[in-house]
Amino acid sequence: MPDVSLTALTIDEGIAGYRDETVDSAVRLTRHLGVRHHIISFHDLFGADLDTLLQKKGRAERACTVCGVLRRKALAEGARRVGGTTIATGHNLDDEAQSVLMNLLRGDLVRLIQDSSSGEPACFLPRIKPLAAIPEKEVVTFLFVQGYFTELPECPYAGTALRSEIRTMLGDLEFRHPGTRQRLMKWQERVRERVTPRSIAGELTRCTRCGALCNSEICQACRILESLGIE
Ligand SMILES: [Zn+2]
Repeated sequence: MPDVSLTALTIDEGIAGYRDETVDSAVRLTRHLGVRHHIISFHDLFGADLDTLLQKKGRAERACTVCGVLRRKALAEGARRVGGTTIATGHNLDDEAQSVLMNLLRGDLVRLIQDSSSGEPACFLPRIKPLAAIPEKEVVTFLFVQGYFTELPECPYAGTALRSEIRTMLGDLEFRHPGTRQRLMKWQERVRERVTPRSIAGELTRCTRCGALCNSEICQACRILESLGIE
């Protein structure tokens, strides 16, 4: 890749019995590939790890929502610290198809059509997903064969999320009806072509704090940060 320099960024949320092992794998992988690696933790950024934040607020049932919001913030801060100009995340085809289905089931048209690949000047860096067309199974198989993982740790909070149910459902559908994930992605693409932000302008506004597209004065992410006492 000419004219591109990569820096790997690992977010350590502080999830006991899960994250330590995957951080070790990331250290081994980046060392092997000769890629500069930066680790940034919730503890450093927000003053406490995820386990503690959730305990304090009694919000274990919303763990994935809280974690997702804080992780996005951590990624942006990490990218700023290493001087990054684009954030490339590791989302795979399964992650992406699950998100389409989740947004559909929540009736969240704004999020369904939101495309962050070109970023928002002065708000967000562009976010790209180079692995988005590759099924999770292929990514994981590659890592196993290469010896980066010997077992696959699962996040202890995963079972609490809607995504977990969608994941199981989509896995079953894909098994019985191969191509389901790709068809979902194709459908999202077609909706994006037809539904422009302008056509849903009535339900769309910008968060007054962070500038994200949302359907209320303050976006969900900023509301969660406020409730956790994080600016
Ligand atoms: Zn916001």
